[in-house]
This record gives sequence, C-alpha cells and structure tokens, in this order.
Amino acid sequence: MAKKDKGKSSVTVFPAWCKGCGICVEFCPSNVLELSDEGKSTVVREDDCIRCGFCELHCPDFAIVVKEKEPGAAKKAAADKDAKTAKGAK
Ligand code: SF4
Ligand code: SF4
Repeated sequence: MAKKDKGKSSVTVFPAWCKGCGICVEFCPSNVLELSDEGKSTVVREDDCIRCGFCELHCPDFAIVVKEKEPGAAKKAAADKDAKTAKGAK
C-alpha cells in the first residue's frame, strides 16, 4: 500500500497483551515482526513497515500500535535531556 511510508512508522507491541497467536507475524507483508522465544510478537524490522495497518486491525488482543514516527522525535528527546541536565545543574 503506502510504500512511501516505508521507514516512517513506529511499531509497538505490548507484550503483556500479546498471546502469541502469530497472526501479525504470518501476515505482515514486510516481515516486520517475529515471534520471540517467549512466544510474543517482536518488532525486528521496523524500518520495513509500510503502515498497511494489517497487524493493528487483526490483532485479536489490540496488542499492536502502528503510528507515524514523529519527525523530530530524536531531536526532541535530545532537547528534553539537555533541559533536564540544565535544571539539575542549578
Ligand atoms: S496478532 Fe496480536 S496477539 Fe497475535 S501474535 Fe500478533 S501481537 Fe500477539
Ligand atoms: S502495519 Fe503492521 S502488518 Fe503492515 S507492514 Fe507495518 S508491521 Fe507489517
């Protein structure tokens, strides 16, 4: 689908809710997910996600969330860290 979105998505699995049915792993068109040794879905190739939404839609336990990556996420985290450091220095 939205190939232009490749590499722009953030995929989060909530292990506490995942029962390891494997639906998302089996049907993800980009092989983003794998089942871990603990039997939980794990994000292994996030950059390949095309945000088709299949996993999110079909997970019976609502254990996956796919979002657009925040464009400035890394920058913001660094800025927040700097702000905290500056506060602590007082
Ligand atoms: S579809 Fe949902 S419950 Fe099934 S393996 Fe994937 S995340 Fe876990
Ligand atoms: S939205 Fe889900 S099913 Fe679709 S490519 Fe991304 S991880 Fe795979």
